Amino acid sequence: MECVGAQNVGAMAVFTRPRLKPLVGRRIMPRKKQSFWPMSSMKVKCNSSSGSESCVVDKEDFADEEDYIKAGGSQLVFVQMQQKKDMDQQSKLSDELQQISAGQTVLDLVVIGCGPAGLALAAESAKLGLNVGLVGPDLPFTNNYGVWEDEFKDLGLQACIEHVWRDTIVYLDDDDPILIGRAYGRVSRHLLHEELLKRCVEAGVLYLNSKVDRIVEATNGHSLVECEGDVVIPCRYSFVTF
Ligand SMILES: Cc1cc2nc3c(=O)[nH]c(=O)nc-3n(C[C@H](O)[C@H](O)[C@H](O)COP(=O)(O)OP(=O)(O)OC[C@H]3O[C@@H](n4cnc5c(N)ncnc54)[C@H](O)[C@@H]3O)c2cc1C
Repeated sequence: MECVGAQNVGAMAVFTRPRLKPLVGRRIMPRKKQSFWPMSSMKVKCNSSSGSESCVVDKEDFADEEDYIKAGGSQLVFVQMQQKKDMDQQSKLSDELQQISAGQTVLDLVVIGCGPAGLALAAESAKLGLNVGLVGPDLPFTNNYGVWEDEFKDLGLQACIEHVWRDTIVYLDDDDPILIGRAYGRVSRHLLHEELLKRCVEAGVLYLNSKVDRIVEATNGHSLVECEGDVVIPCRYSFVTF
């Protein structure tokens, strides 16, 4: 079994079978109730399929249950996994994109957030001829993305898929696997980052490495995107992607 993604709802898992019958199951695990645990030596261990990203969260490191929850609780092990991931293979946005300058003329669109949604929206909007600015911290993609292969093909992103399982099993209950005849892929976050960034570069997206504090409506109908460091970007429209 290989874990391809995990969110609050639980782990998204892929089960592989021997080569003669190449099948894939995608299973949404039921949400586990957060149990109250005594402050003893309880540990949470997590090993990735490669074994290279193993993490241990020792609850003894926290003063009490509340302290543990505030630090991330049961998600802490995933936070640690994210922090241990190799970040060298993704370019810096600020190295590749032209900067939004102080006193920037009014942009058609400011896209806020530089995850997959932000980069894709900025690139596609600029391709249509809009004058687009992208604002957000210059961070690599850290999540592992699992996608339907056909949807990624439609986006022209199939080259970013590093592994495809040709069929998918959905379990609605344990004893009743349903083959749905749809291929599921594991995306290389590095390739996806580089491809979306390339699209932004080619479309002429401008960039500011900052966090947005707030967006205010100006009297002339424009929006003012107020960023950390007192930078204000005027625009006709802004879109938050996180
Ligand atoms: C461990 C893990 C596994 C996952 N696996 C899958 C999967 O298999 N398939 C799947 O579809 N999804 C998966 N997800 C969900 C995945 O993270 C989202 O699908 C994807 O990241 C959403 O992209 P996004 O661009 O909308 O948001 P994000 O990737 O969250 O990007 C939002 C960006 O906004 C930035 N930002 C935040 N605040 C501000 C601010 N004030 N100003 C400017 N910028 C700001 C952040 O720095 C971030 O870069 C997974 C998530 C996790 C944590």
